[in-house]
Amino acid sequence: MSDNKDSRQNVNEKQKELLQNATLRHLIKHNLKKGQNTKLIIVCLAIVGSLGTVGFFTFSNNDVVQNEPEHMKTMLRVQNLRGDTVSTWAAWKILEEDLFHVHVVDSAYATKERQDAILDTIMSLEKIEIDDSLLHKGPKGTTSTYYMGWYGALNSINNTTLHPIPKNLHFHVTDKGEGDILIELNNMPHPEGISGYTTTVIDENSHQILKAHITIYNVEKLSMPQLKTIVRHELGHGFGLGHSTAPEDLMAPQITTAYPYISECALDTIEALYNDLGTDEVMCKK
Ligand SMILES: [Zn+2]
Repeated sequence: MSDNKDSRQNVNEKQKELLQNATLRHLIKHNLKKGQNTKLIIVCLAIVGSLGTVGFFTFSNNDVVQNEPEHMKTMLRVQNLRGDTVSTWAAWKILEEDLFHVHVVDSAYATKERQDAILDTIMSLEKIEIDDSLLHKGPKGTTSTYYMGWYGALNSINNTTLHPIPKNLHFHVTDKGEGDILIELNNMPHPEGISGYTTTVIDENSHQILKAHITIYNVEKLSMPQLKTIVRHELGHGFGLGHSTAPEDLMAPQITTAYPYISECALDTIEALYNDLGTDEVMCKK
């Protein structure tokens, strides 16, 4: 475990640079091919630019403490190819070099500001240390690492899993509905007051995720930090995570934490999932 933790902290400068370039290349390629969405390039340039100047790992403590507890309800439905709801765990089965597509459905609600917020939850490499006493994990003075975005989080895990973890993430806005994980912003309230709903379609025999669809409800009522929180949570389901048994974890079914970031517990579960260990429940050891 300690080796793993060390490796998580070893995303080096070169990788960051490669990421920036690769992301930009893919975005530009897509846009040239389709001749549309020039706004996306601008979004990407802005993000890459700001990452370059601000630095990937700088994170103001003010940003951390400003979060109010969220109290947002979420729902996960796993369905098989017949459309039946099932309770089996599943993971993506992709090749290591495959691009993994996380797309946002183009709509009036997918404004540039919301695209930027969502892009951040996908591509950010920022990580922070939070005192364990704040999340009832341990005594004051001990800390745990949390990630702002799934790119940084997933790439902190060793490349030794049985099935490759999707690490080569690619973001763009689509009007065609394609993508491995599709995020749809909806302004309707959900009848049960749910903010984020993920449906994954799986092949239960091979425990393979085939597609994930995320719907964010009542999106105009959400602040940007709330949108980020709920998308960050739902993306966890998109990669195969179930809910967490720890109420203060990002992956708790009802998000109440003031620190809604990707935890080491979530990453341990991802690692287990892609090693076919047969559980998707996020359990925190501390
Ligand atoms: Zn959930």
